[in-house]
Amino acid sequence: MPDRKNQTELLIIGGGVIGVSIAYHCAKAGIDVVLLEKEQFGTATTSQTARAFRTYFPKKVHDSELAALSLAEFRSFAEKMDTDLALAELGLLTVLTSPEQAAEIEALLPAHREVGVNLELLTADQACEYNPWLDPDTIEAAVWSPDSYRLKPEAMVKGYADAAEKLGARLLSGTTVTGLDARTGEVTTTRGDFTADAVVIAAGPWSGEVAKLTGMELPVWGQFAELLHTDPISESDTDTPFTFHPVSGLKTMGMGKSFLVGLERISKQKGMRDIWFKAAVDELPKWYPKLENVELHSAWTGTLDVTPTKSALIGRGEGEHERILFAAGFTGHGLAHAPITGRIIRDLYRGDRPGVDLSPFSVATNLAAKPA
Ligand SMILES: Cc1cc2nc3c(=O)[nH]c(=O)nc-3n(C[C@H](O)[C@H](O)[C@H](O)COP(=O)(O)OP(=O)(O)OC[C@H]3O[C@@H](n4cnc5c(N)ncnc54)[C@H](O)[C@@H]3O)c2cc1C
Repeated sequence: MPDRKNQTELLIIGGGVIGVSIAYHCAKAGIDVVLLEKEQFGTATTSQTARAFRTYFPKKVHDSELAALSLAEFRSFAEKMDTDLALAELGLLTVLTSPEQAAEIEALLPAHREVGVNLELLTADQACEYNPWLDPDTIEAAVWSPDSYRLKPEAMVKGYADAAEKLGARLLSGTTVTGLDARTGEVTTTRGDFTADAVVIAAGPWSGEVAKLTGMELPVWGQFAELLHTDPISESDTDTPFTFHPVSGLKTMGMGKSFLVGLERISKQKGMRDIWFKAAVDELPKWYPKLENVELHSAWTGTLDVTPTKSALIGRGEGEHERILFAAGFTGHGLAHAPITGRIIRDLYRGDRPGVDLSPFSVATNLAAKPA
């Protein structure tokens, strides 16, 4: 017989921003929660972010919807969780470079607005007012989304974790899950065995490996990721918004007197880091001619939580895996989606409708998508 103190209604595997949000939202709904984290809370992928979130994903209305549904919780976090996220306005400027691309993105704007995203279509000159380092000659149009912010992910994790514990959730660090039986709800760990009515896999890039412990396929993997910074480019703080260039995948934002630079290229290809770095060096001056002779340096590296669709996997297993819930593979936007994901998993556990179409986040949709 397992020790009764190791029994729970809901057991969460993984104490990153997603796991602690689930713990908080479920504990708040009166669910008995245990969360197991193999290291310390929030020290894996969650600690590697660019510390930003956005509500606009140009070609993915479903991702915009989740982020828009999270926004109110970010704004009320300090008051409700007694934790200051140091939320600071950043804004997102999406730069469009051809008439075809502009037409495609413009056609989707009403759908984004309908799910609650605040957007404004700009001319090239207006875009350069927001980010004067851009070259108006390369811009067809741009989309301005003011609801993009910087924050402190470590404060977000602490806020959720402390609030969950106050509500009675048991959060254990230094506890690695080594076995999982979906039929019985038995979970084997380095700190003894647990049993749960339901188990949530929220183990970030390791979620595929954890799912395999119970013979379940979750198409999520970890990919090496890196952020770069430029040499100082200005006497004072650059203070430019999060600027996204979908054609190249280039992402920049002001960081002190420099730019923080990312390049969205998801691939399992070997030697990708060198190919990627060269691409970043090539792309930057194409869209920022004033940065022609500016050097790029590694800022920090991390492990991105990737799925085939580049949208998260959120849902419940089927058949013998019905006891398993999952929330993983947020592919670069886990901060933005953490609040609503906690509420969705709460609803799925209770058998309530989550009020969001989860089909874009299903295992089937991801398995059908061509892997990167
Ligand atoms: C370079 C970089 C920049 C990024 N920038 C941003 C950004 O600006 N904005 C944004 O929203 N997102 C960003 N992301 C993505 C973001 O970091 C992730 O989407 C988010 O942190 C995922 O949170 P998580 O809780 O799912 O995963 P994690 O934070 O990785 O948490 C999963 C946890 O599970 C634990 N775990 C794994 N296996 C086990 C096991 N067997 N037993 C117990 N515990 C286990 C791990 O130790 C880990 O702590 C970035 C990612 C990278 C790499």
